Amino acid sequence: MTQSPHDILRTVFGYHAFRPLQERIVARLAGGGDAFVLMPTGGGKSLCYQIPALLRPGVGIVVSPLISLMKDQVDALRENGVAAAAYHSGLGEREARQTLARLHAGELDLFYVAPERLMSDGFLDRLRELPIALLAIDEAHCVSQWGHDFRPEYVELGRLRRLFPGVPLIALTATADPQTRLDIVDRLGLREAELFVSSFDRPNIRYTVVDKQKPFQQLQTFLNVRPDEAGIVYALSRKRVEEVAAKLQQAGIAAAPYHAGLPDAERSRVQEAFLRDDLRVVVATVAFGMGIDKPNVRFVVHYDLPKNIESYYQETGRAGRDSLPAVALLLFGYGDIAVSRGLIENGSNPDQVRIELHKLNAMVGFAEAVTCRRRVLLGYFGETLAEPCGNCDICLTPPEQFDATEAARKALSCVYRVGQRFGMGHVIDVLRGSHGDRLRQLGHDRLSTYGIGADRSAEEWGSILRQLIHRGYLEQDMANYSVLKLTAAARPLLRGEETLTLARPRVKVAAPKKEPKR
Ligand code: ADP
Ligand code: ZN
Repeated sequence: MTQSPHDILRTVFGYHAFRPLQERIVARLAGGGDAFVLMPTGGGKSLCYQIPALLRPGVGIVVSPLISLMKDQVDALRENGVAAAAYHSGLGEREARQTLARLHAGELDLFYVAPERLMSDGFLDRLRELPIALLAIDEAHCVSQWGHDFRPEYVELGRLRRLFPGVPLIALTATADPQTRLDIVDRLGLREAELFVSSFDRPNIRYTVVDKQKPFQQLQTFLNVRPDEAGIVYALSRKRVEEVAAKLQQAGIAAAPYHAGLPDAERSRVQEAFLRDDLRVVVATVAFGMGIDKPNVRFVVHYDLPKNIESYYQETGRAGRDSLPAVALLLFGYGDIAVSRGLIENGSNPDQVRIELHKLNAMVGFAEAVTCRRRVLLGYFGETLAEPCGNCDICLTPPEQFDATEAARKALSCVYRVGQRFGMGHVIDVLRGSHGDRLRQLGHDRLSTYGIGADRSAEEWGSILRQLIHRGYLEQDMANYSVLKLTAAARPLLRGEETLTLARPRVKVAAPKKEPKR
């Protein structure tokens, strides 16, 4: 008696209905076709190849980059009574031999394997003598340098499509901007594959960005207005993680640090305490979150600017898995851009550096956006939102506009007066008439623009200068200490031939409007 996909979904996995796309993907593979699947984390990618592997004769081969991911999957499958095994460098010799013996005896339905193991010649030769149900490439973005997690050992996988004609191949990923997507298709030889893209929208997450001023105070204010809620605070360095966690503890908040430098036991302890709701806040580097399945994470705060939109999306996506309202707050400081840029430029591979700078720019674009954030975010992944979302800071409190003609003129002429040879901090110091030694040594206290902007705070000037950059009146010389320079567009404004409207700076963490009571 042959089973239907739906039977297997019910009897083996215990679910009643397929999620959107799952059923079509299963049918496509069961029918022998290739598929390329883009689905956010938690969307249910695994079933897309597990069920057709059970439907078709032979074993399903699954390529996965991380031993821990393989283990989780195999454990879960075995629990459901599926004959599954993983083959990777973490196995002892005996275990490895037994696993291969089971594979060759045709005892396995699913075989998880690390890419470098799979692609060794001896292994491929033997594999070709076995009936193969399908080939699945998980985390397929690892094949692309455009992806955020390039793994050289994935490149070899490009040979699979030709080596196994007639075996359906499925590539899956949770993160792929259009550029990465094309690259994956190209590198894996998936031109014939049907593309399945599910929406990346997480409508219950409220995206919010504020100018980073006194970040710890801003974080505290944010936490104070939601005393019963738990969440994650991401920071870029271990040092900062430790600092922020310590300060939160001093403020009486149940918080703990988490980063790759801590002992394994401590990390597990933090993770478990957080899952059990014994910890309110985990302050973490990006190391935290892989495999965290806590449904009631109510907020994710980015204390520092993430390196790219993929990471931002991935990290904010850990909030609100239970579909109840959740908040993603980004503290956006201009200084962070320079820090990230510096880290990226230290890289040795020029192609990689170029790509990462491009991605950082897109991240900055999101942070500086004055239109619906969700539109910008989904737009990055190639998805268009018909209407502004109504659930981001821009939609909820559209930026107030003000006539910035005069302020812009002051700022632009100050950039000119300092010789277009200084960055934002210095320009602001001159505008506000600060008394630094360096300023005096340079003779900048004698410039005509010295002190003409004393009526505005440094934060306000920062916001104005950023908007001038964003709007194309100024440019920052990335290769040269982020020095500010005028563009051709600045001239009419300086000459008084144009007026300019800008958004009023936002420096406060807005209290939530009216959050539904839970
Ligand atoms: P992804 O690999 O896309 O991150 P998973 O395959 O791990 O997602 O699935 C995420 C969660 O959703 C898992 O707990 C899985 O069991 C569950 N799930 C997947 N498909 C369904 C379904 N059709 N019905 C109910 N739960 C599902
Ligand atoms: Zn919006």
